[in-house]
Amino acid sequence: MDLRPVGRFAPTPSGRMHLGNVFAALMAWLSVRSRGGEMVLRMEDLDTQRTSGEFARVLREDLSWLGLDYDRETPPQSQRSSVYDEYFEKLREKGLIYPCYCTRSQLHGVNAPHLSDGTYVYPGTCRSLTEAQRAAFGRAPAWRVMVPDRVWELTDLVQGPYALNLARQCGDMVMRRADGVYVYQLAVTVDDGEAGVTDVVRGMDLLSSAPRQMYLQELFGFPHPAYAHVPMLLAPDGRRLSKRDRDLDLGELRKRVTPEALIGTLAFAAGLIDQSTPISARELAGEFRWDKVKGESIYLDCEGL
Ligand code: GLU
Repeated sequence: MDLRPVGRFAPTPSGRMHLGNVFAALMAWLSVRSRGGEMVLRMEDLDTQRTSGEFARVLREDLSWLGLDYDRETPPQSQRSSVYDEYFEKLREKGLIYPCYCTRSQLHGVNAPHLSDGTYVYPGTCRSLTEAQRAAFGRAPAWRVMVPDRVWELTDLVQGPYALNLARQCGDMVMRRADGVYVYQLAVTVDDGEAGVTDVVRGMDLLSSAPRQMYLQELFGFPHPAYAHVPMLLAPDGRRLSKRDRDLDLGELRKRVTPEALIGTLAFAAGLIDQSTPISARELAGEFRWDKVKGESIYLDCEGL
């Protein structure tokens, strides 16, 4: 049995990498390379309006500048709809999907049901429509998968124990939109599963996606990977650093700093090294341990970047 870890970069090529993307990519790389594992690159370009081949090209170049190499690139999601069709059919064969005609305003309007924290839970409005009711809409539906009233638990390598009851805290999930485009949750589960990914490392904002993907992994027959959801980067004033901070995207940063200086700053902020000093990704691999990295957010001193 091959126990070599397999990790992945799964960027959305919709613009230049910003610091948060760089941090997530660095941690994904360190996690598997520190154990001699394999790295896979996959472009998540389901949203063809926002993504482009040119952004994907620049992304590969940015990864190379950072010294974050990979062993193979799997086909971009925009080219995989016939594969996703096959998995969608598996859900249909299991009798788990149904068409949903709810409009955006029905789903997210003021009268839509929300949990106390503002999370929207789909109440199953279209679950038991009759054939005649479905036909009366006269338009293409989205398709949802039914979720059971069951808790999915995981122990995230950074965030610790996490649990979600999909029926109570999420509701039946859209798998394919009315325009025929498959959603992130289905595409990621299929792509990670087919690529044999054992370690999923990504930003904390995707933590609640893990139980959703674990459910789909069970339905498709894929093993669960290990999960590590890395903290979000905050400016010293507590503001979340984001794509809007244009001076901190790689297009700008590469004009001012070396890859080693950038990696050193991130590694120090994350607690991987004791001093903020330039270091390459490869050198840092020897220092890497998940138990050094904790929490939901990291304050990053951007002075000097
Ligand atoms: N494509 C997503 C992003 O760029 C990451 C998805 C994932 O890692 O599962 O934020």
